[in-house]
Amino acid sequence: MRHTEIEERLTVVRGRIAQACDEAGRDPGGITLIAVTKFFPAGDITHLLKLGVRDIGENKDQEAGAKVAELDETVRERLTVHFVGQLQSNKAGRVARYADMVQSVDRPKIVRALDRGRGTALEEGHAAAPLEVLVQVDLGEGEQAGRGGALPEQVPALADAVAGAEHLRLRGLMAVAPFGQDEAGTRAAFDRLAQLGAELRHTHPDADVLSAGMSADLELAIASGATHLRVGSAILGSRQPGR
Ligand SMILES: *Cc1c(COP(=O)(O)O)cnc(C)c1O
Repeated sequence: MRHTEIEERLTVVRGRIAQACDEAGRDPGGITLIAVTKFFPAGDITHLLKLGVRDIGENKDQEAGAKVAELDETVRERLTVHFVGQLQSNKAGRVARYADMVQSVDRPKIVRALDRGRGTALEEGHAAAPLEVLVQVDLGEGEQAGRGGALPEQVPALADAVAGAEHLRLRGLMAVAPFGQDEAGTRAAFDRLAQLGAELRHTHPDADVLSAGMSADLELAIASGATHLRVGSAILGSRQPGR
């Protein structure tokens, strides 16, 4: 039952992506769908992989670390694990051991902690490649509540710090749409992210990832040029409130 439900929801989400790409004149092949599996069990991840989803997202270190460890090695090695939640510096080292990409880097202290953690993981054979990193941008303005991330004016220095870290690889930017926006406001925020991404590529041409768009606003993100979507409830069903 659970598996049928996930499959049906995934089909709907893939249809939405296809239609939004069609309307935006974009190739769906340029979009990476990340299933955000927070609060759901490792078995759902294994099932998603069978359905062709190779990217999963988690937002809490404790839950994510335990869940990734639970996966069969043959499943884990075919997956890309994205960490999308707020990071504390004392947890960052652990995240750097099991994540493939960390999307939520918002301050220099986290850059240093991730770099150290990945260095150790590489030495000990827990990782085989540098950790991929996105700088999270706060797109909230003025009175509107931001949803985490560095302020736009802090992005260049933070991006330089990531790019300069030995065991990290700067891949681009991530944002969550600001609270309380209508469609036009959300679209404007995603356009701003895309513009910041274009500016970033003047100095870091490989940083071409734009992670934006969730269950409610993935079409708007695709219209703005997002390359990565982070979709939770539309694929996995509703979570407990506030998660
Ligand atoms: C939970 C979460 C998502 C997915 O949200 P849905 O609305 O369930 O699609 C995306 N991004 C981040 C950072 C999240 O924490």
